[in-house]
Amino acid sequence: MDTQKIRVLVAFGTRPEVIKLYPIYEKLIRDIRFEVVTATTGQHSDLLEMTLEDLKWSVDINFAIMTNNQSNYDVLSNSLTIFGDFFNENSFDVCLVHGDTTSALGISLAAHSRGIKVGHVEAGLRSGNLMQPWPEESNRRIIDIVSTFKFAPTEFSFSNLKKEGLAENSFITGNTIVDMVIKTLEREVDSNSVESKLMEEFSIKSQKWILVTQHRRESFGAPLRSVLDALLDLANLGFAIVFPVHPNPNVKNLVNEVLSHHSNIHLIDPLPYSSFVNILKNANLVITDSGGMQEECAALNIPLIITRNVTERPEVQSMDNVYLVGSDSTKILDTANFLLSKHLNPLRESVNFIFGDGTASQKILEILSSSLESN
Ligand code: UDP
Repeated sequence: MDTQKIRVLVAFGTRPEVIKLYPIYEKLIRDIRFEVVTATTGQHSDLLEMTLEDLKWSVDINFAIMTNNQSNYDVLSNSLTIFGDFFNENSFDVCLVHGDTTSALGISLAAHSRGIKVGHVEAGLRSGNLMQPWPEESNRRIIDIVSTFKFAPTEFSFSNLKKEGLAENSFITGNTIVDMVIKTLEREVDSNSVESKLMEEFSIKSQKWILVTQHRRESFGAPLRSVLDALLDLANLGFAIVFPVHPNPNVKNLVNEVLSHHSNIHLIDPLPYSSFVNILKNANLVITDSGGMQEECAALNIPLIITRNVTERPEVQSMDNVYLVGSDSTKILDTANFLLSKHLNPLRESVNFIFGDGTASQKILEILSSSLESN
């Protein structure tokens, strides 16, 4: 082992973490100052595998702690134990984690308790409500507390860290999702790609259509049902809906039960990231409860309805085509009608910089090298 190099562990458990850590990983492995190891908890494994494959990212260690019906408690205790044991045998100058998942929390606590510095990518996001989203709001607060380096995407997230007394070693870098969106849009899309075939199969090029995703725990049950009712109404009005359905049974079963028989509604399996972005950029409207998609839609200027009561990304609300509406079906329907009547013919090749300018991963790499090189 070359002791002069900065040893970095890039560790993650879920799809959004892979997507947002990838641009940093890609830069680190090309830089001779760093020695990089990647490890995953192997949770949500189908979505994770598909995303890793799409990015051609071959991970060094997969701890495969995925179990059926695992609780947050299981994910936390398993990732804490497994990474704790791993850090006992393997030392790193820094462990990079992303966001607010329970796996990121377990990994951070394991690293911190073994005396390894934690670098938190996407630090400082706050909804101000411990139960919305749960347990993500508490996860991210705790991760920020145990992190040496806090990479805040925006001034707002930096100001949250400052308010909590965590300004030291906090940096505004932009969000790495913008790096990913730019990189993905640069790739040529050929006519045989999954996304080109889907667009053709659904004949949605010439028609107004809506891209939908739903997956948050707070939405399960009645709130999700109410969102699905609004989608049925929109389909009845003649809008096409493309809905990659999250594999969580709380989502999948209800979505199939309510939406599977309408000819304007296309329920599909989740898509590989690059195909998904190439579909997303053509959508006339997005209806989602996803965190990452709020940033992607803002970056691509896509009209957006957020089916949540609070957002930890209030920056999106400064945009005139973004509405935070909760799960009330009438509000969703009215807002969707309004946005669809207003915005025509999307073709988005340029990027809005509200969440960063595409240089977040380079900034993070430079901060790590200048802070750790002399150690
Ligand atoms: N995504 C994807 N394929 C899909 C649906 C979403 O690659 O079929 C991506 C999407 O572009 C975004 C991320 O998954 O970057 C969001 O993940 P999710 O909504 O599961 O998590 P959150 O962002 O809410 O933490």
